[in-house]
Amino acid sequence: MTRIIRRFAAAALCLVLLFPLTATTVRAAETDRAPRVALTFDDGPHPGRTKRILKLLDRYSVKATFFILGCNAEYYPEPLEMAVRAGHEIEDHSFDHVTRGKTVGELENSITKTAEIIERASGRPPRYFRPPEGKCTPELDSALASLGYDTVFWTVDSRDWTGKPADAIARDVLKTVRDGDILLFHDYTCPGENTLHALEKIIPALLSRGFRFVTVEEMFACSEN
Ligand SMILES: [Zn+2]
Repeated sequence: MTRIIRRFAAAALCLVLLFPLTATTVRAAETDRAPRVALTFDDGPHPGRTKRILKLLDRYSVKATFFILGCNAEYYPEPLEMAVRAGHEIEDHSFDHVTRGKTVGELENSITKTAEIIERASGRPPRYFRPPEGKCTPELDSALASLGYDTVFWTVDSRDWTGKPADAIARDVLKTVRDGDILLFHDYTCPGENTLHALEKIIPALLSRGFRFVTVEEMFACSEN
C-alpha cells in the first residue's frame, strides 16, 4: 500500500514539476467500475469559503478530502468540525504552510501539531500529507518518513489559486478529468468565489458522466483492488 502510494506520488510530483499544466497522465486506478475522482481542498479551513463548499458538497452527497493548515484550524475550528460531521476526510498540510528553511525537528513539530488538531476534531489521525506548494525537501522527506506519512500530490491542478475565472476552471477540469484523478482546489487562498462557482458546474457534470466521488483514502484503497 505504502509503496504504491509513494510510487504514485513520486510519479505525480515529477509530472507536476515537469508539466504543471498537463499533469494528468498518472491515474490512481484504471478500472472497469464506475470512474472515480477525488476532490481535494488545500489551505483551509476558512470561515466562509469552506462552509459554502461544504454546503455544495452536501447538496450532491459528495465526499471530499481537506488538507488543512493547523494555524487556520486553530482560528476557525467550526468549519473543520462541520467537515468532520459531514463525513469528509481531513488530512495534514502542515501548521503554517512554511517548510523551506526548517529543520527536520521543526517540520515534525509543524506536522504533528496539525495532526493533533485533526485527531482531536475527528477522532482519526491523519494518514496523508500534502507538501505545501507541492514541494519536497530532504528535510521534509525525513520528517514524513519518521512520522510514517504517505505523501499525496494531485493529478489535475484546477489552478483556482491563480484567480482564474470559474467558467475557465470548470471548462479545463471537465476537459481533462479521467478515472482515478485527484483534483486540486483551495478553500482558503483563492480570490472571490471562483472555486465554489467552478464546482457548481464540475460536480453535476461529473455525476452525469457517471463519476463517483471518493476520498483520497478510498482512491488508494481502490488502486489496491
Ligand atoms: Zn497549500
